[in-house]
Amino acid sequence: MSEQLPEIEQLGRQAADCQLCDLAAKRTQVVWGDGPATARVVFIGEAPGRKEDEGGRPFIGAAGHLLDELLAAAHITRSDVYITNIVKCRPPGNRDPLDDEIVACRSYLNRQLQLLHPRVIVTLGRFSTHLILQTTAGISSLQGRVFERHGYKVLPLYHPAAVIYDLLKKEPFFAAAPLLDQLVNGEGEMELREGSGVGILNRGPGSASGFPPAAGDPPASSPAQNSDTRSLAQAVGRADPGAPPAEPEQEISAPAEHFTQETLDIWNA
Ligand code: SF4
Repeated sequence: MSEQLPEIEQLGRQAADCQLCDLAAKRTQVVWGDGPATARVVFIGEAPGRKEDEGGRPFIGAAGHLLDELLAAAHITRSDVYITNIVKCRPPGNRDPLDDEIVACRSYLNRQLQLLHPRVIVTLGRFSTHLILQTTAGISSLQGRVFERHGYKVLPLYHPAAVIYDLLKKEPFFAAAPLLDQLVNGEGEMELREGSGVGILNRGPGSASGFPPAAGDPPASSPAQNSDTRSLAQAVGRADPGAPPAEPEQEISAPAEHFTQETLDIWNA
């Protein structure tokens, strides 16, 4: 008798031949996501890099190792979390994903979140943060703070690759570990307070602006049926005059020298 896969894995297999955007032409494989269907927390990055494209799993390079260090600091094991990206195929040369690629792939992410219905969503870097929170605010002003969207707790963090690149991002990145621990492992409803790095930006419903509906809502449309391209393009716009300069998220020539030998070994492999 054939094994009954969780629905999220069945969907991943259906997406393996996806041709909905130009990234299909140069990928090695679709990097769907990794983790149990029962995960209470979902990490969302930007796009697969070279190692992920080759290996078929998200966050398996040096950035993934740094993410593992954060998880350990938050008393979470990787086998308890689900990890994916906003686009499932590697952009050539690890360039930023384009708006039309994000739009084309968005329904996959929406469906993943519908099926997982996690307690916490951690957005890694500005692209996933802008997409989920529908904001163009700089990631530096959002990182380490908790927001509420459509019943989900959302914790934006720097992308681990950006942390490897920039020493100044390491302390605030790891400073979020106790908060992540409390969000994921804490019992009952967490009391969110303004200040101390914890704040609520907006409690309003988000599905109208592109945020994935919660479980029980009507199923998502097919990936080809995204309709709010314009609002999404605005949400991921690079032209926010108040935002800090764009931060490198994937294509990084060398890590800063403040990381463990293990991370450096992985980086240099
Ligand atoms: S829509 Fe997503 S899965 Fe499909 S080709 Fe584009 S990036 Fe890959």
